[in-house]
Formats: sequence, C-alpha cells, structure tokens
Amino acid sequence: MTDRAVLVTGASRGIGRAVAEAFAASGDRVAIHHRDSADAAEQVRAQLPGAGHVVVRADLADPDAVRLMVDRAAELLGGLDVLVNNAGTYGDRDDPHPIFGASYEQWQRRWRQVLETNLTGAGNVTWCAAQHMRERGGRIVNVSSRGAFRGEPQQPAYGASKAGLNALGQSLAVALAPYGIAVATVAPGFVATDMVAGHLGGEGGAAIRAQSPFDRVARPEEIAAAVHWLASPLAEWASGTIVDLNGASYLRS
Ligand code: NAD
Repeated sequence: MTDRAVLVTGASRGIGRAVAEAFAASGDRVAIHHRDSADAAEQVRAQLPGAGHVVVRADLADPDAVRLMVDRAAELLGGLDVLVNNAGTYGDRDDPHPIFGASYEQWQRRWRQVLETNLTGAGNVTWCAAQHMRERGGRIVNVSSRGAFRGEPQQPAYGASKAGLNALGQSLAVALAPYGIAVATVAPGFVATDMVAGHLGGEGGAAIRAQSPFDRVARPEEIAAAVHWLASPLAEWASGTIVDLNGASYLRS
C-alpha cells in the first residue's frame, strides 16, 4: 500500500493537510490542492515525508478549472489511485442565513456559495477523478459533517450540502463498485481547524467541548487516520459507509 497517487482537495491547511501528511507518511505521493493559498500549499509539499508530491490549484466552484486541476494532478502523479474530497466551506459565520433573518438575496448568495463548493464542486472533482480510475480501480473518500445528520439551523445550505455529499457517496459506491472503485464518507463533528477556530473560545467553546464525554473537539489527525484507512486496500468492504466521528457525542445528549 505504498506509492499510490493521491489527490487531496483543500490540503493547504486543516483536515486536508493532516490527510496529506497521513498518505505521505505511508509512502504515497500526494497532489496538494488549494484555491488561493499557493505559499501554504508549497510549504505543506516541502514538509511532507517522501518525494513526488505536487501542488495543484482550482476554485472548486469553477467546473472548467476543476477539470484542468484533476487532469494536471493525474498527469503529474502518473494517474490517480485515491481522491479525498476534503475542501469545503461553511459560508461566512458572520453572515448566517437562517430562513428568517436573511434577505432573499443573502439566502441565494450563501446557497450558491456553499452548494457550488461542497456538493457540485465535489461531484465535479469526482467525475473527473473517476475517469482516471476507470481502468485501474481506486478509492474515493468524502469529508462530510455531522451537520448532514443533525442539521445546521444557522447555515441550512451547509447541512444540505453535506447530506447531499453523503448521498453522492452512497450512490457512487454502488455505481463504481464494478470498476473496483470504493467510495466512503467520514462525518466529523467539531474539529480544531481554522473553520471553527472562532467558536472554540469562551463559554461557547466550553459548551462545544462538553458535547463529547472526552470534553474536547477532534484533532485533524484523528479524522485523517479514518480517511487513510477508508482508502486502504482492505477497506473495500467499507464502501458505501458513512463513518460518524464524533467522540461519543450523541450518546449522552
Ligand atoms: P478549513 O477551512 O481549514 O479547510 C477548508 C479548505 O477548503 C480550505 O483549504 C479552503 O481553501 C478550501 N476551500 C473552500 N472553498 C473552496 C473552493 N471553492 N475551492 C477550492 N477550495 C476551497 O477547514 P477544515 O475544518 O479543515 O475543513 C475540511 C473539511 O472538513 C470541509 O469539507 C469541512 O466542511 C469539513 N468539516 C469540518 C469540521 C470542523 O469542525 N472543522 C467539521 C465537520 C466537517
């Protein structure tokens, strides 16, 4: 299980970076995708163990850029064995869009921004990557969220996008199995990254940590370890699953 060609979207920081590190540590070559963080992505590339890692760029909301990016990653790595659909956006936390409290224009803006990246973008990356896996098989792992199950009252588009991602993964697990491509999903709760950093301080942060009996949020490495296993040869039988990574949070609430 070494020297595989792995594309990780949104890998310049956060969970994506930890995922890139996990694959590189097991001897795989990683395409580190970013949107507008060339320096950070290059820094990740330079710090990864092993050789042959590359940096690729695209705004996932731009279907043409996505296609060029995936084809470029496959060209640089000599094909694609693993895709991790990690990149995602919560939308602007300071500009929430509940049904009441947001204008119709705000609602549409957020809906487009979040869905175009988290669902349409991931779907487009998947279509492009699957073309490269058709003859050789592969693994696709999607990074969803517990918001897909529990809802996101302040950002309904986020919950909807991640529920859609879950359904995309289940649909493709069936459709791609005949090609030796397994598709699985992880659905974390709070993970200590830039995406939620503003929420982890003060009383609000304490309440978030207290959701888990471990009294903390997840570390990116803990999500990356699950992603890495779901992309392993022995995880074909996990295709179609949605792994709920939430530190036993639901069980005592
Ligand atoms: P992050 O904000 O650090 O990383 C998100 C990455 O996605 C960034 O690199 C960002 O540039 C990239 N991205 C966003 N929109 C993009 C676009 N249009 N085109 C290209 N790249 C784009 O946050 P993270 O926590 O590392 O998030 C990684 C994934 O984990 C996301 O899909 C997120 O929804 C999911 N997730 C995070 C948490 C959490 O609490 N942090 C919980 C559940 C799920």
